[in-house]
Amino acid sequence: MFVLLNDEFVNRNECLIDIEDRANQFGDGVYEVIRVYDGEFFLLHDHLKRLIYSLEEAKINYDIHHHNLADQLQKLVEMNNFKDGGIYLQISRGASPRSHPFPKHTQPTLIAYPIPVTRPLESQEKGIEAILHEDLRWLRCDIKSLNLLGNVMAKQSALDAGAKEAILYRDYNHVTEGSSTNVFIVKDGIVKTHPANHYILNGITRLYQLVEKTRVFLQAFLG
Ligand SMILES: *Cc1c(COP(=O)(O)O)cnc(C)c1O
Repeated sequence: MFVLLNDEFVNRNECLIDIEDRANQFGDGVYEVIRVYDGEFFLLHDHLKRLIYSLEEAKINYDIHHHNLADQLQKLVEMNNFKDGGIYLQISRGASPRSHPFPKHTQPTLIAYPIPVTRPLESQEKGIEAILHEDLRWLRCDIKSLNLLGNVMAKQSALDAGAKEAILYRDYNHVTEGSSTNVFIVKDGIVKTHPANHYILNGITRLYQLVEKTRVFLQAFLG
């Protein structure tokens, strides 16, 4: 498997990353997972826009245009002869001796590689069981950050309870999102979803669903 490491393509077993890359010690980085269907990216532009947002909010200096990231990702798909699945991509603040402040002369580290993603057709039709779980994450959930301990622990609680997803809530009165998914609630014929603020990660799927729901609604309304 070929991995995009910064601006180079390397074999997975030759992808050397410093043990002191800040992704390891601090989860100091951001990421994206972009769906690929039949060798083509799905909504690549929306993902790159969100990546730029996460980078800016995390104050990581990485110019995706300067690095021709869109072209490089396309090349990654081609080099791997990758047809269906996802491209996982992360950008950390880079490698530096462990110390909390932002390092001064460090370049960010980018890695991107293909991962399997399947479409859960049966679950989509039949539904899944979910548990309610307190949202114990930080207050910048709008950044797609590598710090996923809160998400991972909530997901495992769901699995341990025989369910498949944890629906997270805060202050006992509002649902935010799932551990790795956004939530829509249908109640009394009304579709509700948490506003896109610092309590949720504004999913591309969520945005797309909103547009789609609005289209369906308008079509029914306007005939
Ligand atoms: C990435 C993510 C989402 C949304 O994923 P999309 O693929 O953009 O729809 C929702 N919630 C969390 C916590 C995420 O990390």
